[in-house]
Amino acid sequence: MDWNNFLKDSGKAALAAVFPENIYCICCGDVTDPDSRSGLCFRCSEKLPWVFENPFRSYMDEFAFDDVWPCVRYGSYARKIMNGLKNGGQSYMAENVGQMLAERVQLEWDMPDLFAAVPSHRSKMQKRGYNQSELLAEAVAKRLKLPYQKGLLEKTRATASMRMADGRTRRSMLEDSFAVSSRFASLVPGKKVCLVDDVTTTGSTADACARALKAAGAAKVVLLVFGASSGYKKVEENGAAEP
Ligand SMILES: [Zn+2]
Repeated sequence: MDWNNFLKDSGKAALAAVFPENIYCICCGDVTDPDSRSGLCFRCSEKLPWVFENPFRSYMDEFAFDDVWPCVRYGSYARKIMNGLKNGGQSYMAENVGQMLAERVQLEWDMPDLFAAVPSHRSKMQKRGYNQSELLAEAVAKRLKLPYQKGLLEKTRATASMRMADGRTRRSMLEDSFAVSSRFASLVPGKKVCLVDDVTTTGSTADACARALKAAGAAKVVLLVFGASSGYKKVEENGAAEP
């Protein structure tokens, strides 16, 4: 397969159908192509670093999730979109990003049984009034006509700031900090769960969530994210070529 053409076509596929609410590009703010259902103008769609490979593929034995499905490499373009989603209160953007996530899921042959969101820190959520991961999980599940359970995962305890901690330290700090809510525990056993987050850096939070899902009986956990960052760096350090 010609990987570059594949990426290019997939990027274009994100512009393929009508999403009439879109007037302005969710990345640069320019007037969009009226045919864009991803909410991106043609220029931003071409510039976004689409990348669909698991960023942690060279050290997956360290994680509880079984695969990672990203859309773009996290950088200045993806950051603009995520900042708009997080800080601008533009929850309609979740519909656009949800569309891109849905198209990412459709590249896989193995469809999930259930969607769940990575819980956000309560104080951050109160400030914004919503959890962007929940909005994304709901939007992608709706598009794929697959079930989504809000509140499936709960944060069971607060964690100290992890800003300076590396991936392994983060993972040990987060151990047992998430659990499947007892209200929805019967939904999980034997299921292929798709865990949705906006961005992953070290994969630590998603790992803690995946651990909780596996403890509750999930057969498989896949992490679906819009942007992924530092995992790729580790791959490069290990000498593997990036597409
Ligand atoms: Zn744009």
